[in-house]
Amino acid sequence: MPFDHPEFDRHERVCHIDDARTGLRAIIAIHRSREMGAAGGVRFRPYSSGDEALCDVLRLSKAMTYKNVLAGLPVGGGKSVILGDPAHDKTPSLLRAFGRVVDGMGGAYLCGPDVGTSPDDMDVIATETSHVGGTNRQMGSSGPPTAEGVFRALLALARHLGATNGVSGLHVAIQGAGAVGGHLAGLLAAAGARVSVADPDYFRARAVAERTGAEVVSPEEVLTLEADILSPCALGGVISEATLPGLRVRGVCGGANNQLATEDDGRRLQARGIAFVPDFVASGGGIIAGMAASGLYPSDEMQPRLDSIHDRALEILRRADATGETPNAVAHAMAHEILKIDSERVNPPIV
Ligand code: NAD
Repeated sequence: MPFDHPEFDRHERVCHIDDARTGLRAIIAIHRSREMGAAGGVRFRPYSSGDEALCDVLRLSKAMTYKNVLAGLPVGGGKSVILGDPAHDKTPSLLRAFGRVVDGMGGAYLCGPDVGTSPDDMDVIATETSHVGGTNRQMGSSGPPTAEGVFRALLALARHLGATNGVSGLHVAIQGAGAVGGHLAGLLAAAGARVSVADPDYFRARAVAERTGAEVVSPEEVLTLEADILSPCALGGVISEATLPGLRVRGVCGGANNQLATEDDGRRLQARGIAFVPDFVASGGGIIAGMAASGLYPSDEMQPRLDSIHDRALEILRRADATGETPNAVAHAMAHEILKIDSERVNPPIV
């Protein structure tokens, strides 16, 4: 029962879908709605249990609220998970069935690609609903704009760490040479940073290195490398009790969602004097670009929104230093303030 679930945070809606005809088993969660509903990606994963899927969708939809609100977008947070192995279970009929469910929500939830789904899948979903972003026609891969946002957050972190010439001369270790990490490596190298990159797929890391002049390190090494900044661009939960003691960096900032295994790990990071840009702030570029491409706000507002990731990140880092709160706690408080103003506009206080 979601009401009793430890990850339940007064989510507005949690819909379970079990469609025997197409095999679709999914959960859609809306954490908070705003003026234009709630938005977040469709994750397709072979979850080991229904509870694991529920846990993921509750956590991810909440993180989307923070991401969307702090990116200045007129949407709250939503997310969906489809239970299954995308390599075997992802069929056009299943995706179309999912599209019909999204359509039935009448715009309350806007979906887009996430781990296990692609712009091609969004094209299939778009045959059933208009409440979908990230199709091929709209923009294709959201990796490059996400990397653009992470790059701005890294510039803020560099400034916070005392650098006076952007990331030039800093050593950044990137975990993950995929759509985000690969593009980020190019931006950093062009800005004069020394870049190390790791990926279990050696050829992927090698290709990024050849294109950008980065050096390849092993996935084990990247978490203990002596560098200025670690940029997690692969998995969630990478900052944990197990990895924290080995970190030899001054800051952490990357595109991966939910980098802290627990909020306590944020406190441990801070106690070690390692500055952290909340992932839901650094990784907002993809959805900022996706919503502009979907026509949900004027496209000439996209670049300023992307650029504002820098100032938002810097403000969070400075407030965290001044108050002793963790950057995540500071960012959450900022988002709650914006949501409070929102709800007072819709429901003015009774005087
Ligand atoms: P991707 O699948 O293109 O790339 C991820 C890469 O990480 C892969 O090359 C994979 O081999 C590698 N990897 C896996 N385990 C690793 C490990 N232990 N060490 C080093 N590398 C490892 O994914 P992506 O689109 O680049 O996204 C990366 C992260 O950013 C994900 O956590 C994703 O949720 C998050 N994110 C992506 C976007 C986007 O628009 N693509 C937006 C917001 C957040």
